[in-house]
Amino acid sequence: MFNFCPSCASAKITFNEGKFFHCPDCGFVYYHNIAAATGCLITVPDGEPAQERLVFLVRGKEPAVGKLDLPGGFVDVGEGVIEGLYRELKEEIGWTPPAAPSLFASFSNVYEYKGIKYNTCDMYFHVCAPELKPETLTLEKAEIAGVRFLKPADIDFSAFAFNSTVQAVKTYLRIL
Ligand SMILES: [Zn+2]
Repeated sequence: MFNFCPSCASAKITFNEGKFFHCPDCGFVYYHNIAAATGCLITVPDGEPAQERLVFLVRGKEPAVGKLDLPGGFVDVGEGVIEGLYRELKEEIGWTPPAAPSLFASFSNVYEYKGIKYNTCDMYFHVCAPELKPETLTLEKAEIAGVRFLKPADIDFSAFAFNSTVQAVKTYLRIL
């Protein structure tokens, strides 16, 4: 990521253990830590016999534009995980959960944006939303191209943006 030391411009800077930059000339050290990210799996009960639909977003921007994703995103500086999740839900779909989402899975992920790879710790939450309907959501136009309410049998796992999301959905469906 850095070809030269940001402190003294030495070209001898190295990236070590997948974690930190070190400059042998001036002693500069910079830890490129993981970023925390959230995903929210929203389920909607659907008819008889007991069925449910899972709510997915269609990504409207790179990376992985057009692919399926869950609402959520990076936790901002100064935020807690739950706070970040609620903010993302409000921003992306204009919705606040009726009950506290519960953590059910967590996986590592690599999020590449404009040539830079960010190692993330993705945390997946679930919440059941009996009243949720597609037309009640306000999608963030710059980021979200659409929303899908899918029955488990109709989910195409090759259509997802990130493998960690696939793992999370399969964990929820108990098929992992
Ligand atoms: Zn240096």
